[in-house]
Amino acid sequence: LKKVVILWSGGLDSTCLVLWALKNNNMVFPLFLNRHQSNYKWEKKAIEDLFNSIKENYSNLKLQKYREFEIISPPKQLKKEFIDKKQKFVYFLRNSDLLINAIRLALCKGIENIFLGNVVDDLKNSEIFPDIHPEYLKMKNNEINKALQIMHENPINIYAPFIEMNWKKKDAIKFVKNNFSKIDLQITRSCYSKKSTPCKKCKACRIRENLEI
Ligand SMILES: [Zn+2]
Repeated sequence: LKKVVILWSGGLDSTCLVLWALKNNNMVFPLFLNRHQSNYKWEKKAIEDLFNSIKENYSNLKLQKYREFEIISPPKQLKKEFIDKKQKFVYFLRNSDLLINAIRLALCKGIENIFLGNVVDDLKNSEIFPDIHPEYLKMKNNEINKALQIMHENPINIYAPFIEMNWKKKDAIKFVKNNFSKIDLQITRSCYSKKSTPCKKCKACRIRENLEI
């Protein structure tokens, strides 16, 4: 039995990853980050509903209660300046901000694995989010382990299972459909808007439109 921290946003990919990890006999410690995202309330609701549904229907699986940390990223002081200037730098290395908090939770709990929900579809966005690139992640893992080595601590393993298996979003969804018939993936939240009902206009909604969920 492996212990693993998973960043859980309540969206499709991270939810599929939580279920995949549980099915593969891992003890899962989910982490939800309140980064003051506009859809915070609805992401949180999705996680709560999904958590309850997994517990009710698959009580034998080793799902631990999710933790929630509050972070501010990017810094409020810079956000407006970034937006005025050049949009793409607003969230520069945002995934690293999220990941570092998963690493902190893992170290605190003596957990040596962190799984990331990246899918093959994400790789085309590497130009905007370079920190989802597999080569970057490998170097990040080495960087963290260098720090741990200096501290005489055990190394940790940062792993993106879906990328390693060459899975697209639709493969992850198919896995859940085949293995977790009692989990309704419609409960997941993708839309970025602050409205309760998905806007059908944002990028997340448009991607979701083309999937069989
Ligand atoms: Zn939307």
